[in-house]
Amino acid sequence: MRYSETGFNLEIDLSRGNIERVETDPKLTELHLGGLGTNAKILWDRVPPATDPFSPDNLLVFGTGLLCGTPAVGCNRTIVSTFSPQTLLMGYSMMGGFWAPELKHAGYDKVIFRGKSPNLIYVWINNDKVEIRDASHLRGKGAVETSKLIRQELKEPNAQVSAIGLAGENRVYMASIEQGRSSASRLGIGAVMGDKGIKAIAVRGTKDINLARPAEFMELCNDVLKYIQHRDENPIKNVEPIFEGLGSPQEMKIVDEKWHTTGFMWGNARTRRKDYWTREVEEKWRKSQESVRTRLISCYNCPMKCGAIISVPGLSTYMMKCYSKLTYTMAAFSDLDFGFKIAQRATEYGVDGFSTPQVMAFALELYDAGILTDQDTPGMPSDTEGRFYWLLDRIVRREGIGDILANGTYWAAQQIGKGAEAYAHNNIKKHEQLPLKLGMLNPVYFLMYCTGEKANITQIEGQFPQEPFPEREQREEFVKDWIHVPDEKFKQYFLDWEPRGERANPYYPTVDMAVEIVDWQEKMHYLDDALGTCAGLSSFPLKPPYHIHNYPTFISSATGMDMDEAGLAQVYKRNRNLIRAINVRRGLRRVDEKPPEDHWKKRFPELEEKLLDAYYKFKGWNKDGIPTKETLQELDLAYIAEDLEQRGIIKNEQG
Ligand code: SF4
Repeated sequence: MRYSETGFNLEIDLSRGNIERVETDPKLTELHLGGLGTNAKILWDRVPPATDPFSPDNLLVFGTGLLCGTPAVGCNRTIVSTFSPQTLLMGYSMMGGFWAPELKHAGYDKVIFRGKSPNLIYVWINNDKVEIRDASHLRGKGAVETSKLIRQELKEPNAQVSAIGLAGENRVYMASIEQGRSSASRLGIGAVMGDKGIKAIAVRGTKDINLARPAEFMELCNDVLKYIQHRDENPIKNVEPIFEGLGSPQEMKIVDEKWHTTGFMWGNARTRRKDYWTREVEEKWRKSQESVRTRLISCYNCPMKCGAIISVPGLSTYMMKCYSKLTYTMAAFSDLDFGFKIAQRATEYGVDGFSTPQVMAFALELYDAGILTDQDTPGMPSDTEGRFYWLLDRIVRREGIGDILANGTYWAAQQIGKGAEAYAHNNIKKHEQLPLKLGMLNPVYFLMYCTGEKANITQIEGQFPQEPFPEREQREEFVKDWIHVPDEKFKQYFLDWEPRGERANPYYPTVDMAVEIVDWQEKMHYLDDALGTCAGLSSFPLKPPYHIHNYPTFISSATGMDMDEAGLAQVYKRNRNLIRAINVRRGLRRVDEKPPEDHWKKRFPELEEKLLDAYYKFKGWNKDGIPTKETLQELDLAYIAEDLEQRGIIKNEQG
């Protein structure tokens, strides 16, 4: 019997219209857990490295995490993986909500799409019955609207639906997959779904999921709930409001946005709005938020209520998630009212709330610089808010200049020319758009931005504070119940971290400490993304209920696998190296691992090189960021070493 997983994937060949239920190899669960780990294994095995993201040979994998659908609190993530049209590398994006648990209850761990459908379709998974259905009547419909229409059509109000909007249909590189209470937004995953001709996937499942040791598992889940309550009653002191509690950033509860609005450059800006946040603005924002926020909502089996139903008069309701509240507002140098309105349209279109406002701000910067002219933007209104709507409408339809902007700032700048490249100044790994710029280089963040395979900056943060606390007593207080540290030495690293002086950024945490901290943060993210745990209850906030010490018992009692911390560390390393190898095979090298030039005001080239050298060495990679043969062999990835060797990547690049 398989525990915590169903042991079956759905394989759908869209070119042939063929659907198969395929039993999976339990050995792969031992090696990679599930979710991101096994998604990556499938992409390595089955998608040749030269495959274009829009080729029928590219796969689109909807994977559930290993603990999804079990009573484990907050384990509800769908991990969508494919090759990104934006970066050409592996792209993966996690969505919360209810879709993954529903798929597990229908009897499947993953849905794997290959080929392309000649017509627009949707897939209806109703336990054992799976159909490909015509979706021509849904063409051009909004993502949220599509979900409603499909539920009505199926007469199944409990079906969970993942859908794309116009942006996905038109292969916009910022297209998201929307799921009502969450979305898989980053790196153009929705564009691949549209390219394959899939408008939506509806799921209804009523089967059980087996647990190896259910009584023990339920006790662990109850401990998590008790701990969540404890954290609720004991918010973290001496940090910004956003870091006090648990969950995905509680943007729908929090109104104090001083830190976010004044601390970062937003959109394509090069300056901060340092004096933006005043008492008047706070009051205005409070009124705006409270007048449209109908109620707070949670994902499957979670008490945290991180999202909100938003009802703006005259517009259809939608769910506001995370930073979309700020990204449009700040990129347009506008107000929260505007943010709530345009996010409704953007959600129906199905676009990433991080990249899209940045692309629009980039276009306006080009227009101000005379690189784009009135001829390129016929009929564009004169006010910024009007321009944002105008640009959004054109981008999702790929109309006129929108057709170029739909490819994101990196590719658009190349196409536009005339010096436009200098305006695509927020990109990392060439193509991926970072929505902020900062002052002093932080060595931990330098490494995470440069080397992370997960899209920046979507909760790559972790259980180590982002900034030092001003007073030693505050730090001593913090470490007292810091049970999450993988090793006691991390407490000392934090205790000695000062805001100023010798033990301050950029030289403290030291190079070696920075590498270890990044490794801890990454480990938690990789485990969450394999297990399907929401980062908001694990890798992202300070002092969360899930951590490296209680994960092994959770996994063991759910799956029956014998798992301890050392074994779990091995799984993390294996998945980390597997994804690195996938991207290395597609050309990722050290030269790509650098932040935008002006991301930090103060840069330290020598230190940055040392950080990268030390990180690569720690990981068992060569100086170009390529895993060595020995590292791969130790992780049961000898087949990858062989492949990289045959391609001359290891042999030629090492030394
Ligand atoms: S913490 Fe928030 S985002 Fe995460 S599962 Fe719970 S409700 Fe969803």
